[in-house]
Amino acid sequence: MTTGTATRSATTNGVGLDQETLTLMLASLRDFVDAALPIERRLELDHDDVCPEEVVRAMCGDQLGVQLVFVPEAYGGFGGGAFDSYRVCECLAHIDIGLATSVFATALGSDPVVIGGTEDQKSDWLGRIAEQGVLFAYGATEPDAGSDLGALRTTATPVASDGQVTAYRINGRKQWISNGGIADLYTVLALAPGGPTWFVLEKGMPGFTTAKPEDKHGIRLSNTTALFLDDVLVPAANVVGLIEGNGLVQAQQVFGYTRLMVAAFGLGGGWEALNRAIAYSQTRVQGGTPLARKQGYTHKLIVAHAARLEAARAFVEETATRVDAGEGVDGGLNTEGAIAKYMATEAGNAAADAAIQAHGGYGYTREYVVEKIKRDVRITTIYEGTSEILEMTIARDRWQRHLKTMGEHYRAAARAAAALGAGVGGDAAALALDGLAAVLESCRVGRLTRNQHVLLRLGELIAHGECAASLARRASAAANGTLPPKADRRFDPDALAAISRVYARDAAQKVVSDGMRWVAGALPAGDPAVPALAEALRLDAVRAAQAGLLDDLDHVADVLYARAS
Ligand SMILES: Cc1cc2nc3c(=O)[nH]c(=O)nc-3n(C[C@H](O)[C@H](O)[C@H](O)COP(=O)(O)OP(=O)(O)OC[C@H]3O[C@@H](n4cnc5c(N)ncnc54)[C@H](O)[C@@H]3O)c2cc1C
Repeated sequence: MTTGTATRSATTNGVGLDQETLTLMLASLRDFVDAALPIERRLELDHDDVCPEEVVRAMCGDQLGVQLVFVPEAYGGFGGGAFDSYRVCECLAHIDIGLATSVFATALGSDPVVIGGTEDQKSDWLGRIAEQGVLFAYGATEPDAGSDLGALRTTATPVASDGQVTAYRINGRKQWISNGGIADLYTVLALAPGGPTWFVLEKGMPGFTTAKPEDKHGIRLSNTTALFLDDVLVPAANVVGLIEGNGLVQAQQVFGYTRLMVAAFGLGGGWEALNRAIAYSQTRVQGGTPLARKQGYTHKLIVAHAARLEAARAFVEETATRVDAGEGVDGGLNTEGAIAKYMATEAGNAAADAAIQAHGGYGYTREYVVEKIKRDVRITTIYEGTSEILEMTIARDRWQRHLKTMGEHYRAAARAAAALGAGVGGDAAALALDGLAAVLESCRVGRLTRNQHVLLRLGELIAHGECAASLARRASAAANGTLPPKADRRFDPDALAAISRVYARDAAQKVVSDGMRWVAGALPAGDPAVPALAEALRLDAVRAAQAGLLDDLDHVADVLYARAS
């Protein structure tokens, strides 16, 4: 029996799709959905709150076969790695995040099996995804157990025969389950005597019913329902891994991977909205010239968001590469998954909001689509870990690193970033990381993380600082021709360097000003730690690093609008 602490990609030895297959899959995806569900139809379905189940099944079945990307080769899939899955998820999100959620629910729902299933269970359930295109749903959340899954109340009571446990009776309720009303198979987390445990349930089992779909703010093309479990008799063979009590660990182990996929939804939604705003502003004339020619418009509503999205992408791509190299085993990249999701989904949400603003009154109507994208992308900061839970995850982990290394963790990271050079934003990223080291140290000395708010704000600053360094590395790799082969290549090395310089300045400014604010805000008036921190934060250097910012913003705007600088 394989207890399988492996990640999806590690189960395929990090091989993943070849580039040609990935490129073909991305192109087929867009063509298929554009033909099956043109944008006008998607807007109707959104308005009517209907999940196009037949299209989801066609996408996850013989007609398109997108589900094969998420299934390891050994079980009939293509064995896509995290990098492949991120590219596919972003592509899906450009089209519709509701549809993306429905497709991804099968990957999410089968993850406990990939991670913890026995060989026979994998062959059976993963094989059915690959061969029959069955849809999965992932049933973890309950009415009173959301962020805190440890509070789950659904129970699994063993049924014994001749002293052997042959089945379990499951009782409880699951809430907000994607594909809840349309799935064929369900992974359900329930409390067995040995602890939280995943069970695989089949649609139609006696006692298993679903509620009517939720009337949601967004992702209205995705089916979301509650699940009712009343004395559902489930064979003991359907316990994932055949061992009780591993459920929460198995749920945790996949976060490095699954959160990257939701991060990709943030990138897809955010960029789709920005692309629409870019196109709109080239034809919309106000005050005699197109909006695209107005710096106060482009730099606030377009460029700043493009930089944030690309900083998040850098972190997503780095983490996906590490997952594919096998580093994510045993939940080893959970914090990285959290940073990627937090940054990409917050950036996507902010970009979609800016895209409505960029369209003025037209953006507030359904016809221009950005309104729908904004509602759709909003979910990404809630499911698969809310932004606040992610801030906590990030802060706790990096706080431990700060303590264990006696403050050296971010100082070393700052030296590495500075070595990349100012041309790719390495100097400003280094200021952000040095600033983090100083702020964390002030918090340690003043014992300020006793305030949960300070701890979570540190999580935010850490995520910005780490993404600035990641984007500088990506810009440097682009300049050296060493980007991963499957990396997104929208921007050339010169543009990526300018984007990185813009973002790194922003991150440095944010770390020093917000960091100072929370430290000063948590200490009594006149505390000497505050002026000491001001000195350690190198405010003069951060100010000096802002020189040239307007030129870089102009340059990035020119790139986005494909015009000569
Ligand atoms: C459309 C949709 C689809 C979904 N799909 C699925 C699915 O397929 N499968 C599934 O299992 N679940 C699914 N979910 C559930 C989703 O994962 C949860 O909604 C999410 O984890 C948050 O849980 P909650 O809603 O109970 O909010 P809560 O946990 O009650 O959180 C409410 C607020 O309090 C904050 N908060 C919570 N705890 C803390 C804390 N300790 N400190 C500070 N702040 C805190 C949160 O950040 C949030 O802002 C879906 C939800 C939606 C809306």
